[in-house]
Amino acid sequence: MRAVVYGVEVDPAVGGGGWRWCVSVALEADAAWWSAAGARRLYVLGSGGSRRLSLGQAAELRAGLEASRRRFGSAAVPGGSWVGVEELCAGWALDRGEYERWTSRLAGRLLLREELEAMDGLPEDWVRFVQWGALMGRLRIRHGVERMREASALARLAGRLEGMGVHGLRVRGGDRWEGYRCVRCGSEGRSLLPVSECALCGGPCPYCEACLGMGRVRYCALLVQGVAAGVEFAAAGALGGSGVRARWGLSSAQADAAGEALRFLERPGGGKFLLWAVTGAGKTEMMFPLVERALAVGGRALVATPRKDVVLELMPRVKAAFPEARVVTLYGGSEERWEAGAITIATTHQLFRFREAFDLVVLDEIDAFPYHGDPQLTYAAEGACRHDGKFVLLSATPPTELRRAASRGKLPHAKVCVRFHGRPLPVPQRLGVPPLRRWADSALPRSLREAVEVSLRRGAQLFVFVPWIAAIPGVVRLLEGAFPDVPIGGTSSKDEERGEKVLSFRGRELRIIVTTTILERGVTVPRTDVFILDAHSGLFDGASLVQMAGRAGRKAEDPSGNVYFCSAEWTKSQKEAIRDIKAMNDLARKRGYLFP
Ligand SMILES: [Zn+2]
Ligand SMILES: [Zn+2]
Repeated sequence: MRAVVYGVEVDPAVGGGGWRWCVSVALEADAAWWSAAGARRLYVLGSGGSRRLSLGQAAELRAGLEASRRRFGSAAVPGGSWVGVEELCAGWALDRGEYERWTSRLAGRLLLREELEAMDGLPEDWVRFVQWGALMGRLRIRHGVERMREASALARLAGRLEGMGVHGLRVRGGDRWEGYRCVRCGSEGRSLLPVSECALCGGPCPYCEACLGMGRVRYCALLVQGVAAGVEFAAAGALGGSGVRARWGLSSAQADAAGEALRFLERPGGGKFLLWAVTGAGKTEMMFPLVERALAVGGRALVATPRKDVVLELMPRVKAAFPEARVVTLYGGSEERWEAGAITIATTHQLFRFREAFDLVVLDEIDAFPYHGDPQLTYAAEGACRHDGKFVLLSATPPTELRRAASRGKLPHAKVCVRFHGRPLPVPQRLGVPPLRRWADSALPRSLREAVEVSLRRGAQLFVFVPWIAAIPGVVRLLEGAFPDVPIGGTSSKDEERGEKVLSFRGRELRIIVTTTILERGVTVPRTDVFILDAHSGLFDGASLVQMAGRAGRKAEDPSGNVYFCSAEWTKSQKEAIRDIKAMNDLARKRGYLFP
């Protein structure tokens, strides 16, 4: 995108007076705007055909001029010329209806020029609309890759803003004056932002490698950000705890936690809240009162999750819970792409195209792949929430940083320590079994075979987890050899028939499924026992052990279930997992949540 830099003497009666430097991608719009504000002429840098810089260069130049204007005086910058606003306007007038329609459609969006141009019915002179929107404060014109020093003033403020509860500002290294940052995904540093020659910039132009799959974000690329109006949560007033409980059919543990979260919503200002709910606690129901509150004050709510299947599962439940609201679902390959809804359900990957859009963000399964440990996705999710919006994190196994922040009182949170059915979580038992590689080619160890037999006899279905995909076929073979009459299947992330196999496991056509952590979440069957082979493996951390164990005892009909850590060694992760599960059970007992 090309742009020009111009200066203007602001009428003291209008904008407080003084000299201002501006960037424009459509000078006609600026001329019309300043003409209405009483200015007669603009001082446009460059002359004739050489006026236009790349958008990145123009933005940097403007920032430099603004920073130094006190020292150099107003228009005392050579190389420009005065042009009358009437001449620049060239008879252009804004179509207000179209403008309104487009700016409201773009509210909360962060779109590349190519994405904008792909939208249906975009007016021919959209660049002028965008420029007008920027002057009005309804849109922001950003260039895709910023030099870090542009952000350094913000970085100095970052600490203070954090203290005020403003999050999502991931500007680091206040005294670093080098390097670039991608505005869309927040990537920094030379390795993620290589520099290539660009005709528009007439020289080196960094672009972002990290989010290249969604279109190239360059130093000179136009990113249009729509400014969304925020809401005040306190305005709705308290709806009352018992009302919430009855309306959404919550257990007392769910209702207490939802009540905590609602009180957090009512507090002024933005911030984060952790809803730490054990596996099978019924997280979805607890989201509903929060979403309800956001809608009640006219806000926009986002429910985001790393996994597409969760989006698809949530959609009918959310639609049923809020029949009046417009619900939009976004995931890779979804049909709805540019629609705006009161409720948006999306995979975290879709959030790169939003910025400061939502008053409430509920982020589910923050510890799940691929969200956990992906700084770009974290940046996108936090960026999708308004600065004064509410960010609610959901997890059964929160990452260490969050647990620590919660236990130190730095992160408001609520624990849901009991399952919906009010029975304690099954505590894993240890089964001494030699390492898989020692018996994978021969026969099932006796202790394991006997435990599997007990589970089959009690009519359970079995999850058998292994640490790596290559181990699946061997374990399936050994189990088939030991239990020839039992239907057994194996599946992994590499298996094209995974969907069908999971379906037949759900339908009890398969009694045993051998798999990896890919099935640690999501699949719930009524009567289940869980076997984790090589539970000592470094490939399982405490969180995934808790998640896998959480497959057992989900339903009220069979609330206990057996969980076995089949391991050759007793490791820290296994101990941690058991300690966490027991701690939640103890808390549930203490709070009187357990079924008598
Ligand atoms: Zn990027
Ligand atoms: Zn360029």
